Amino acid sequence: MSETTSPSIEEFRASAQAFLDRTCERRTEETFVWGQGSDKVGMFEEKSKADEQRIVETAKAWRRQLFDAGFGWITGPLEFGGSGLTSAHQRAFLEEATGYRTPDENPFTIGLGMVAPTIQAHATPEVRDRYLQALWRGEVIACQLFSEPIAGSDLAGIQTRAVRDGDEWVISGQKVWTSGAQYSDIGEIITRTNVDKPKHKGMTMFVIDMRDPAIEIRPLRQMTGGASFNEVFINELRVPDSHRLGDVDEGWGVALTTLMNERMSIGTGMGGGGSSLGSFTRLVALAQHFGRNTDPVVRQQLADIYMHANASRWNNLRGLAKIKSGQTPGPEMSIAKLTGTLNGLRTASVVGELLGPRLTADTGEWGTFAWSELIVGLPGARIAGGTDEVMRNILGERVLGLPKDPSHQK
Ligand SMILES: Cc1cc2nc3c(=O)[nH]c(=O)nc-3n(C[C@H](O)[C@H](O)[C@H](O)COP(=O)(O)OP(=O)(O)OC[C@H]3O[C@@H](n4cnc5c(N)ncnc54)[C@H](O)[C@@H]3O)c2cc1C
Repeated sequence: MSETTSPSIEEFRASAQAFLDRTCERRTEETFVWGQGSDKVGMFEEKSKADEQRIVETAKAWRRQLFDAGFGWITGPLEFGGSGLTSAHQRAFLEEATGYRTPDENPFTIGLGMVAPTIQAHATPEVRDRYLQALWRGEVIACQLFSEPIAGSDLAGIQTRAVRDGDEWVISGQKVWTSGAQYSDIGEIITRTNVDKPKHKGMTMFVIDMRDPAIEIRPLRQMTGGASFNEVFINELRVPDSHRLGDVDEGWGVALTTLMNERMSIGTGMGGGGSSLGSFTRLVALAQHFGRNTDPVVRQQLADIYMHANASRWNNLRGLAKIKSGQTPGPEMSIAKLTGTLNGLRTASVVGELLGPRLTADTGEWGTFAWSELIVGLPGARIAGGTDEVMRNILGERVLGLPKDPSHQK
């Protein structure tokens, strides 16, 4: 779609509705109130390999349909295969989709929320051409290999090494908490390429092939029962130099692109749960279901959540505006992530009050897990992408101008 032929929001909404009517069922109260729909499962839910495979295949087929109909990458630049439309078009599509049971898109959260924007901004034309559209069309799934056993909040402490060998790099080391590595085709990895420089220098980022035999992936089970993340061992993996993201030893700046997008993505509720306006609509429906929507205390709690969900959204829009004007968003994303996860806590508290023991008791009632997953998965959302404490440090230092945390490292 070109600038001159861009549809109005109303026209776009109508075509989105026609597409959704053609491809999905409308939500019923049952599927809406209790979860995201029977075709959606929790990100952290325990599932068999076969179930996981089925979810991934369904998600891929759905992404292909979305992309081919022009709804898969609505704001993406035309030259890279996107639809070249505005964030208002994107919002209109999301609003329309809330009324339908669309398939689970969890397998794409990291690839589209973090890796694709980093590839778009920093990859060579070869890598961009090979993976960008394939990611948005669901042909390729990506994961993020940042954290290591001794480097999480202190990401610049990573030790995975990449050593140059002609036109290739040889990577060895260990990553941990790698979400979705088990079904990913590619990964975005941060490595140390120079040990003589200060630790925020001397790191380089690459796109790697997750199917290479030099990579071993071992699942880690979390307290939700699921095993959505992994330990990843890398033993002399050879990567062409063309798969480097950004300049040699300048990986920190590239990693920030990913982290800012991750914070925005969790803040808007893609991974945080409870903070998005879509989750809010479901929460109101849940209160109505139990006849608690007229209770003044519940109403006040709901209003509080709505207000903070909007605050998070506006911060994200500020960040997006910065990206559009070529600037790097900074503390806006930390505010968005923190307000998002704090709103998850508020949501969890209301949900607990509405559901009472049904939240934990296995009544066999369909979909109850969608809410209990929010409760048991929330601690993870408060850690992933930078912990609440780290977000507060960033805001204290960069927004309030408080003195920097003392550090024992150079
Ligand atoms: C659900 C989930 C999914 C994840 N997925 C991925 C993934 O796909 N890829 C990936 O690379 N990583 C992933 N992670 C890892 C995540 O990025 C790290 O867990 C996170 O950065 C924290 O690092 P850590 O676990 O090493 O904790 P640490 O950094 O050791 O922190 C431990 C505690 O100390 C606090 N702390 C640390 N430093 C400070 C400080 N300076 N001031 C105050 N408090 C501090 C923290 O807030 C925390 O409470 C995931 C984590 C979770 C929970």
